[in-house]
Amino acid sequence: MTVFNLVLANGRILKGCGNPWFRGDLAIQTGRIVEIAPPGTLRGQEIIDVADRFVSPGFIDIHTHSDLSILVNRRAESAVRQGVTTQVIGNCGMSPAPVEENHIADMHNYWGPISDQPEVNWDWRSFDGYLRTLQSGGLAINIASLAGHAALRIAVMDFEERDPTPSELDRMKEYLNEAMQAGAFGLSTGLVYPPGCYASTSEIITLCQVVSRYHGLYASHIRGERETILEAVAEAIHIGREAGVPVQISHNAPKFGAPWDANSNLRLVDEARAHGQDVTVDNDVHTDLAPALTGGLPQHIQQLPAAEIVTLLQDPNTRSRVREEIIFDYIDETNIRILLKHPAVMICSDGQVLAPYGFLNDPSPYSPCSYGEFPGVLERYVRNEPVLLLEEAIRKMTSFPAQRFELMDRGVLRAGAWADIVVFDLERIRDRATNLYPHTYPFVNYPHRYPEGIDYVFVNGELVVDGEQHTDKLPGRVLRHPVGAYLYSDKRSSRQS
Ligand SMILES: [Zn+2]
Repeated sequence: MTVFNLVLANGRILKGCGNPWFRGDLAIQTGRIVEIAPPGTLRGQEIIDVADRFVSPGFIDIHTHSDLSILVNRRAESAVRQGVTTQVIGNCGMSPAPVEENHIADMHNYWGPISDQPEVNWDWRSFDGYLRTLQSGGLAINIASLAGHAALRIAVMDFEERDPTPSELDRMKEYLNEAMQAGAFGLSTGLVYPPGCYASTSEIITLCQVVSRYHGLYASHIRGERETILEAVAEAIHIGREAGVPVQISHNAPKFGAPWDANSNLRLVDEARAHGQDVTVDNDVHTDLAPALTGGLPQHIQQLPAAEIVTLLQDPNTRSRVREEIIFDYIDETNIRILLKHPAVMICSDGQVLAPYGFLNDPSPYSPCSYGEFPGVLERYVRNEPVLLLEEAIRKMTSFPAQRFELMDRGVLRAGAWADIVVFDLERIRDRATNLYPHTYPFVNYPHRYPEGIDYVFVNGELVVDGEQHTDKLPGRVLRHPVGAYLYSDKRSSRQS
């Protein structure tokens, strides 16, 4: 009888595809799952008896902003501790590459104080260079990246509020070609933030035509999520149809002030799908404000350097004028439930890798989704309130985002797939980073705390989280989109020969 490297014995296995769990053993060998069999039947050099806890594919977080924070904390603390084994970065138009020598100051301004951390040395220029920097220092989790539209625009035309000239648009296409060849999974936009908000629909269609050649996707923080949310969803769908690319509508909950509930935007998604267009949605389940507070300022103020914003807001007249332009609140929980239940909506954090130590803890950025998104869904919307069946929640965290990003050997438990695995106890699972409404007095700021109930996390077959401990292992990989990376390696080898 074969003796495998490692066997997880006697688990309740959730394969990730949406089917109910079954009891079984799972064997891991050289990074991959090699066999799943009835409980008590597999032999291993090492056997972990998971004692009826759930064994699931590691969670895939399709929408994060860890692009720079993962360089600061390669242990990916807040992500891997909640069971996340793969994150997608480069969202909302923001990727740290490409970057031009004369625009490094602009990128610093764009990314804020994290840009000045010693681990973020901006020694890359191309998208490929950035991915190499990511991989070279080791990572606890896998990372897939989108090319950010804002980065393309900044590299070519700073924060200028105008259309690109034909030659500028050509240069943006060249940068995007390079990113797709390096293995970007598609293009992201952030159409409420400068400079993304200055782009016309046709500029984005032109760029998505480049993405289409590599079978990538278009992911968008759409042009408005309140009064204009339906036009904005329609624009994203239109862009996908015209350019021939699948569309991922990012964190698409109507924000307070939208005159419709989430059924209205989902109806547009359903109609597009009924007409054969591939459109899907992700969302996080926190009702609180997620972006930096500057995200609430009018766009003409947001684009300024932080010091100038502070000076401007010190002037009482400017301040009262700005105040009139803001109504700022976030999401109604009713919409969170509507979105969770829809089959074309997957779960994301919209957070980033953080840690309860070092720069990523102090100054304390907003943290609950970064620490507790996935355990929080299991705790609040599966165990405490039956919004989702367990297997459906797991599908939305694993095989569905894997399918979206063509990660066909991840997000599912089957022989041959990479052993990205989380073992959890549904009875004990608890998100400890969320300050739930109604807030109690004294107000506890969102604590940087790891969740409870995530007992083991394996990335590419290696144990990264062992109960309360991070094992210091860095087995994660930079994932490159298969089509672009294939073309690129092809070109490289022909260049060498
Ligand atoms: Zn966004």
